[in-house]
Amino acid sequence: MGQTYDVIIIGAGIMGCSTALELSKRGLKVAVLEKSTVGTGSTGKSSAIIRQHYSNEVTARMAHHSLGVFQNFSDAVTGECGFTQAGFLVLTSASDGKGLQENVALHRKLGIETEIINRDEILKRWPYIALGETTLAAYEPQAGYADPNLTLNGYVQAAKDQGARVYQETLVSGIRLSGGKVNGVDTPLESFDAPVVINCGGPWGAGIARLAGVELPINSCRVQAAFFRRPSPYKDPHPIVADFVHAVYWRPETGNLTLVGLIDPEEENYIVDPDAYNENVDFDFIADAGERLVKRFPALEDSESAGGFAALYAITPDWHPIIDEMIEGSGLYVCAGFSGHGFKLGPAVGLMTADMVIGVETPGMKRHLFRRTRYEEGKPVRGQYDYSIVG
Ligand SMILES: Cc1cc2nc3c(=O)[nH]c(=O)nc-3n(C[C@H](O)[C@H](O)[C@H](O)COP(=O)(O)OP(=O)(O)OC[C@H]3O[C@@H](n4cnc5c(N)ncnc54)[C@H](O)[C@@H]3O)c2cc1C
Repeated sequence: MGQTYDVIIIGAGIMGCSTALELSKRGLKVAVLEKSTVGTGSTGKSSAIIRQHYSNEVTARMAHHSLGVFQNFSDAVTGECGFTQAGFLVLTSASDGKGLQENVALHRKLGIETEIINRDEILKRWPYIALGETTLAAYEPQAGYADPNLTLNGYVQAAKDQGARVYQETLVSGIRLSGGKVNGVDTPLESFDAPVVINCGGPWGAGIARLAGVELPINSCRVQAAFFRRPSPYKDPHPIVADFVHAVYWRPETGNLTLVGLIDPEEENYIVDPDAYNENVDFDFIADAGERLVKRFPALEDSESAGGFAALYAITPDWHPIIDEMIEGSGLYVCAGFSGHGFKLGPAVGLMTADMVIGVETPGMKRHLFRRTRYEEGKPVRGQYDYSIVG
């Protein structure tokens, strides 16, 4: 007989930890089992940009709810999440102008503070930006970024305050099912019993599902980020920018750094073993990211490279997560596959996953859109516009 809980959560990234808090708040006895240490998956390496600019309603709602949590983290969770309000500027090509305007109209309907700004206004606010053919942009002043490890510390502390247990260095090596119901998990050292088990394994999510004989369309894909040290007089922080023309995003980082990543649909093809991949940044990546950055921000031509790193996205066929029961009626659930944009959704996802276990739905959080059968039904989650790789 192992230790007994109401719910076992596999994985201590933002999804596992926010779900643990939400379920503990509802009076359930929860254990989070983490094979390594808290935050060693995608969450700890996240750029942690928090914007609400999405091209479909459900994710925009989720981001809007979550931003409120990040902004009021000490009350809504506990401690600090390091939220820095930097503003978020979206630059698209002229052909995406109509989509951008319709998207912004959708966001405003949902109560998101955002605006379309024209060429003159962009140059007035950020004179160092090279606009080229870009005539329109969208700007979200409330957007920012957080410290992902501080955020996780807050969630873990708050969940523990509600009675949850977090076991680190505890690899789930087996999932036990009997008569179509889950009854616990095994680790190399001990067993844990529970009638509910949730796979929050991020890039390891498909491998964890296989322990129960379930195949999930989640690939673990290698992605990279680079840092550049801004020269004087550009030491002041700049906004977060998503530039869909040059397929690049950047945000300020402490120490006069700019963090740069690519918006690259090809990333779904860079499939790797999540336990054995090159975690160093490639020299070619730094050169490519730097060139794209300088096209928009020519003054950074003289910035110094400050290295970078590689990490993992958990990518599904439509770049949206799977939040569902893995085997109907079994009590075995999955909440994984956030395809490179999950950090900002973490607070809402914890709520939705807890709702799923309890069998309720918070208004507006349409969990069924993320069901695992949507691909075979031909109903993937899609944004409305071409630049919708931002989800
Ligand atoms: C470079 C980079 C930049 C990003 N930038 C942004 C951004 O700007 N904004 C944004 O919203 N999102 C961003 N993301 C995406 C976001 O970070 C992820 O979607 C999110 O962190 C996923 O969280 P998770 O909890 O699902 O997975 P993870 O954080 O990967 O957590 C899964 C955990 O499960 C554990 N685990 C795995 N297998 C087992 C097992 N068998 N037993 C026990 N434990 C196990 C792992 O060790 C891991 O800690 C970025 C991601 C990366 C990599």
